[in-house]
Amino acid sequence: MRSFCCSDCFNPKRDTFHRFIRQQGYESSEECPYCKSAAGFKIDTDVLGDFIKEGIDRAYDNIGRESENDLSLFEILNDRVILFEWENHREHDLTEALLARFCDVDKKLYRLKLESEGDDEEQYRIWQNFEHDCKYYNRFFDLTPRGSGNTNRRTDMLEKLYESCLKNLKEEIEPGTELFRARVIDSKLKRGRDYNLDEVSIGPADKSNSQSGRMNPEGISYFYVAEDEATALKEGRLRAKERVLIGRFKTLKKLTVIDWTKVNIYEKAVDIFSPKYSPSMAVYQDFLRRFAIEVGKPNETAKPIEYVATQLVAEYVRGHGFDGIKYDSAVGDGFDVVFFYGPEITPESGDFNVLPKYTDIARLIDVREFKIKIEYYLEP
Ligand SMILES: [Zn+2]
Repeated sequence: MRSFCCSDCFNPKRDTFHRFIRQQGYESSEECPYCKSAAGFKIDTDVLGDFIKEGIDRAYDNIGRESENDLSLFEILNDRVILFEWENHREHDLTEALLARFCDVDKKLYRLKLESEGDDEEQYRIWQNFEHDCKYYNRFFDLTPRGSGNTNRRTDMLEKLYESCLKNLKEEIEPGTELFRARVIDSKLKRGRDYNLDEVSIGPADKSNSQSGRMNPEGISYFYVAEDEATALKEGRLRAKERVLIGRFKTLKKLTVIDWTKVNIYEKAVDIFSPKYSPSMAVYQDFLRRFAIEVGKPNETAKPIEYVATQLVAEYVRGHGFDGIKYDSAVGDGFDVVFFYGPEITPESGDFNVLPKYTDIARLIDVREFKIKIEYYLEP
């Protein structure tokens, strides 16, 4: 007897996979033996099993002997690919129906393919390695000479990352784009004495009171803005009754940024069911995703050292001549942009290198002050 399962058995986010079921499956009102749904598109388990095996073979090698550090077919589908629908509790039986004819689905025989000969598993912990090295080993990688005993692997890795994906995320922000910036006003401060509705009060902090942020080290002040007012306010994690300044800016020229909100264009490259799957892209995609997660973490819970890795990536992007990085707000619906531009230069710093000033790229349209009624603060 032919055995079958259905589209409702599987994670609805696996697009390529579902497309295959729609192409190769059939409609029937019969109840699925695995998920009990009658509505799903049905497919023969051998036909689907062949397709799954092809995907696994694209990304994993069967190393021929069992080892604790390797993965079973069931672990790959359940933990790595996250193939099954959350509510489907017969995922193990289903894995057997699909793949048992290839090998024991619980034998740890499979290992992720590596980018090229000579690499080791290390690159699959690439973000962790990068972050660790930035924090505890070698913070200033551009000062480290290349040569024997020092492979400068962070620089090499960032170069490869840049060539294979970052440069494709280039985006231009048109002149005249409106962007917003919020600043919480300490209750001790008095308008007219300590601040005003002007550029100095809403622009980037000057270097003497610049604190480290997700993308800027202490002392280097960047211009952080948000797509809309609501996102700017949420980024400030404002609490009820706090006073806030909100500035509206307009960009003055075309600005080139790396658009981190587009990293999902590489999803095909990390989808083992897509013929476009690429082992190296899977590594880079993980790095890009981890960066996005780090950048979105709330400010007030982190120690300055938590930012070192993201700051270095930002500085690397800046070194390639970009004006900034655009990224998804972790709290608001819109996006944020950090521009590598600082406050107005004070005359005595004329002999030193200074960041270009933000007034070169944006003009303040208006500043308003108001008191927060709604709680914007989100518990981490
Ligand atoms: Zn089903």
